[in-house]
Amino acid sequence: MSDSTPLSLLIIGGGASGMAAAIAARENADRFGFKREDFSIVIAERNGRVGEKIRISGGGKCNITHEGLPREVLQKGFFNKKEERFLRTALFSFTNSDILDLLSRKGLRAQARDDGKVFPVLADGTSVADAFESLLEDSAICIQFSSRVKRVFFREGLFEVTFEEGGSLFAKRLVLATGGVSWPQTGTTGDGLRLARLLGHTQTTPSPALAPLYLLRPPSARLAGISLRGVGLKGLSSSGEATRRGDVLFTHKGLSGPAVLSISRDVALLMANDEKCLVSADLFPDHTHAILEAELLRQSAQKGSQMIRKFLQMCPIAPGGLLGGPSVHGTIPTALIAFIMKHAGLKEDVAWSSLSKIGRNNLLTVLKRFPLGQVARVPLEQGEVSAGGIALGEVNPKTMESRVVPGLYLCGELLDYAGEIGGFNLQAAFSTGWLAGSSAVRQLQE
Ligand SMILES: Cc1cc2nc3c(=O)[nH]c(=O)nc-3n(C[C@H](O)[C@H](O)[C@H](O)COP(=O)(O)OP(=O)(O)OC[C@H]3O[C@@H](n4cnc5c(N)ncnc54)[C@H](O)[C@@H]3O)c2cc1C
Repeated sequence: MSDSTPLSLLIIGGGASGMAAAIAARENADRFGFKREDFSIVIAERNGRVGEKIRISGGGKCNITHEGLPREVLQKGFFNKKEERFLRTALFSFTNSDILDLLSRKGLRAQARDDGKVFPVLADGTSVADAFESLLEDSAICIQFSSRVKRVFFREGLFEVTFEEGGSLFAKRLVLATGGVSWPQTGTTGDGLRLARLLGHTQTTPSPALAPLYLLRPPSARLAGISLRGVGLKGLSSSGEATRRGDVLFTHKGLSGPAVLSISRDVALLMANDEKCLVSADLFPDHTHAILEAELLRQSAQKGSQMIRKFLQMCPIAPGGLLGGPSVHGTIPTALIAFIMKHAGLKEDVAWSSLSKIGRNNLLTVLKRFPLGQVARVPLEQGEVSAGGIALGEVNPKTMESRVVPGLYLCGELLDYAGEIGGFNLQAAFSTGWLAGSSAVRQLQE
């Protein structure tokens, strides 16, 4: 592993961003007329294979990217304006079509679902990692497996990288592509943050994103595995609130599902100063309190003998559904009804005719703000990504070059951004990696 001849480019991390950086670097080096034997590109990867996270992405199906124009991808995937601005050049210069074209060179075909998420036709993350491996081979990229970088030094314009296993490498240009800190079993234990700090960078503390919520009192076992469709989810603490619209899944420890994953970053922030955060679900997000009250009154007047739980069982909660609109796609799950009645202080077999005004108001309150519980923890290690990372102001968004150390490039989840669920995080890793690899070669050529 030791060699004192400087490599042209060393990339630390063989994940989505590191592999994209390596392939982009070779394409650019070829284009600039560098002979392959004179332009050495090496990936140092601590695992025994590349693309560990790609293989498990999207539940093993790998949601590669999201369809749409780059502008749409940015707006849908990155709510934080500062992060959206930072990613603009990268996402415009290596787009969703570019990554799909690249993978198609290896015969990988992909298709977009109705919700815009793009998956391999075979719905297999391993096929994406395999395609990358083959592209790396074609590009004559040398991969040093089982090589965990311990220290990085920058002296007299050269980088020296030392390994935990012993030995060191020198390089003219260095790309840090070590990922975030979630799912540490895939190799992402925050090494890159430490390495960047040693080189003079600052970081914001990593925090969870796209993570489940663990509740102080986990949901009843009868609810685990049940989903609420299209609800309005709210997290509330004394310092503020966060809201999302979407599906919520009850789990044994708390809550998951798209709306929960999306809100988790905000909930973690609401809890930052040891604050209590309560989460609730609006089961009728398309209906104001007044409209819902009118509907309950109408039911009381027209169907006095009907049991309220029967009404709830049949009652569509989808937008427009309650009032006979076109988009009926769900009802309140039967298992939840006993809990709604209990929270509203109503007996299970009460009929509309015997519902008091107080009872109706209680029911209304529970339907509009069903208490899901108090959040105990947003587990950082369980997040699909981690927020926080190397400060964006210290990296040039047009090249991904460090503003602190010339010749150092940073890309992927290591940086202080986090995208929404839907293929946006892999796309951001591919795009920032591609930009970093191309820029590093361009700089060497100048
Ligand atoms: C369960 C799960 C599901 C996901 N599903 C999706 C999805 O469907 N769609 C989507 O867009 N995103 C998804 N993501 C997020 C996405 O996988 C990541 O955002 C993306 O892989 C980040 O790419 P990266 O290159 O920055 O980091 P990574 O892909 O994590 O790569 C970092 C690499 O660096 C290596 N490394 C770290 N430290 C060292 C060191 N000291 N020396 C050498 N090597 C080192 C690691 O071993 C790793 O291989 C998912 C994440 C998880 C955990």
